[in-house]
Amino acid sequence: MMYYTIFVQTLTVRCTLKPAPEQAEALEATVQRFAEGCNHALRVAKRTGAFRRFALHRLVYRDLRAMGLAANLAVQAIARVARRKGERAKHYQPTSVAYDQRTLSLRLADETVSLTTVKGRLRIPLKLGNYQRHLLRKAKSVQGGVLTKGPKGKWYIHLTLRVDDPEVPEGSSRGGRIVGVDLGQKALATLPTGELFSGGFLKSKRLHYLRKRAEVRSKLDRPSERTRGVKRLWARLSGREARFVNSALHALTRRIVDLLEPGDVLALEDLKGLRSRTTQRGKRARHLQNLWPYARFCFFLEYKARLKGVRVVYVDPRHTSRECPRCGHVSKVNRRSQALFRCEACGFQHNADWVASVNIARRALAQGAGSAGPGHSQLALVLGHRLKHLHLPAS
Ligand SMILES: [Zn+2]
Repeated sequence: MMYYTIFVQTLTVRCTLKPAPEQAEALEATVQRFAEGCNHALRVAKRTGAFRRFALHRLVYRDLRAMGLAANLAVQAIARVARRKGERAKHYQPTSVAYDQRTLSLRLADETVSLTTVKGRLRIPLKLGNYQRHLLRKAKSVQGGVLTKGPKGKWYIHLTLRVDDPEVPEGSSRGGRIVGVDLGQKALATLPTGELFSGGFLKSKRLHYLRKRAEVRSKLDRPSERTRGVKRLWARLSGREARFVNSALHALTRRIVDLLEPGDVLALEDLKGLRSRTTQRGKRARHLQNLWPYARFCFFLEYKARLKGVRVVYVDPRHTSRECPRCGHVSKVNRRSQALFRCEACGFQHNADWVASVNIARRALAQGAGSAGPGHSQLALVLGHRLKHLHLPAS
């Protein structure tokens, strides 16, 4: 049985803008005017209680146009105010403007973006890295974006891209595996197939930068040594580290995704849950947070996987290294050491990180089986079949 699923999704990519001085002035005026428009709409909404988009539109649209906002910028300003209570601001700062397809367009040929401003339509050069260029080329369309003003007067555009994932034949012989990724302490990631992704070099290099920066910081703390040269050194170190970490993460995640086939499912630990908990894993995550950039690692992994037609699911990270994949027994004692897992109930033993990655895959399987839709249950069957090939009798 074969069927196809197309996942349509959006991705956001941040690009630096390189406006000419007069363009920067126009952008500045636009964020000011946009914030004024939002604040005006907010005042009217508060006074009249008309927080619904359509009602508010009728009340303030003309005002916003009269203030000099283009039609679709006025619409976007109203949309900002017409959000749910917790999501809208109490006061709007002049730091960003929302754009849609009518007020923003991208031209890849000369790497420029065209934006509607209070001084008319402007075509502004983009500063793209390989990562951005790659994503922009892959995108089906640009759905809009948010112009933001960063510290030091830098301008960014956060483009919302529509990406169609490749069609995935789920019943085909290739693909359809579920691959759990254990984010570990020793190795950065372990897969159930046994592959290890060592981030050792990444960790040591980061420690190196950490020491270097501590040195420079102590100099910055002493006013007599806070020279321009030292300040510049600080900035250079930070930039160099960020570039190093990014390129290392891109390389590592690329290697993982290269092992996957379209139709596979990638299971990752839900890091948000991980951080807020006070379990051992939570503490561990917090401790390593500075050295292991897990969140960015997952982000890179996720976007690369999706572009390849690999679905990404997140699972509960609790006890993934303490649960026996054979009998399901959960105990702290099961994890004998950093490296060894041995179940106190059934005696099953294996590498601890490998066990965790298998547990992550199994949890994803359980989630998939429980979700609605014929596509999912079929997928779960396929995955269940594949999982048996790991020679793990189900619990
Ligand atoms: Zn067991």
